[in-house]
Amino acid sequence: RIVYVNGRYLPYGEAAVHVEDRGFQFGDAIYEVCEVIDGRLIDEPRHMARLERSLNELQIQQPMAQRALGHVMRQVIKRNRVRDGLVYLQVSRGAAPRDFYFPGPDVLPTVVCLARPMSRAVPATNALKGIAIKSMPDIRWQRCDIKTVMLLPACLAKEAARADGAKEAWFVDGDGFVTEGASSNAWIVAEDGTLVTRQLGSAILPGVTRTTLLDVLREEGMVPVERPFRLNEAYAAREAFITSATQTVMPVVRIDGNTVGDGRPGPIAQRLRNKFHQFAAISGT
Ligand code: PLP
Repeated sequence: RIVYVNGRYLPYGEAAVHVEDRGFQFGDAIYEVCEVIDGRLIDEPRHMARLERSLNELQIQQPMAQRALGHVMRQVIKRNRVRDGLVYLQVSRGAAPRDFYFPGPDVLPTVVCLARPMSRAVPATNALKGIAIKSMPDIRWQRCDIKTVMLLPACLAKEAARADGAKEAWFVDGDGFVTEGASSNAWIVAEDGTLVTRQLGSAILPGVTRTTLLDVLREEGMVPVERPFRLNEAYAAREAFITSATQTVMPVVRIDGNTVGDGRPGPIAQRLRNKFHQFAAISGT
């Protein structure tokens, strides 16, 4: 079998993309699958139109002209001698050092194309009997408590934040409550002085830094409250901050253009930031 990767037609076992490909690390990629009958593509213009739309929606550079992509698909079909089967075309934002923000325009998209024969016998037999369905709640993807690489929404949010002069984005749920950051947990020091962060559940990642900080707070004799809070409460908070392994405790001074507190890192956030490493478990090498 022959696979197309970034301008080359390679044997199946040798075709590979970079370990830091954004498709692999963030799900930052789009794809199309076309049916192939008698070596010909079915509904190619519609698949191409949807591919182009997907690229535009995600601001991924068009890797090559549609005609050229069509040529690649035909080459892969031909080189694999596929008569009846499918062709798979994937375009990712490319490979770059891991960062939620989009890389610069010098990073080119990754293009992968495979073709596979597919027997018509199995679907034909199934069609004679009909198939069964199992219903499932549509949770695509509402299991934010699992640290998966399904990070495309987080990438889009971070990029939107950056375009707005912000470093991080806070997600707000359907009831108007802040869940967490795109890559951090969200905290406020409410007007009455209580430290608040959202309770665990499927809406947030149980951040390790969050857990350690809760220990720090209790050690300090403080009583953190794990509950939902709204944006308005955050705008009016004394302080706000985020936690993550790479940022530890990072003070937040502005949310949606609203100044938090006096617009400078708050004393509690600063103290917790300084204390943090005294409490975190440090492993030897
Ligand atoms: N929430 C989300 C969605 C994250 O991606 C991260 C870290 O990347 C966090 C919270 C913070 O988790 P931790 O403190 O374990 O780094």
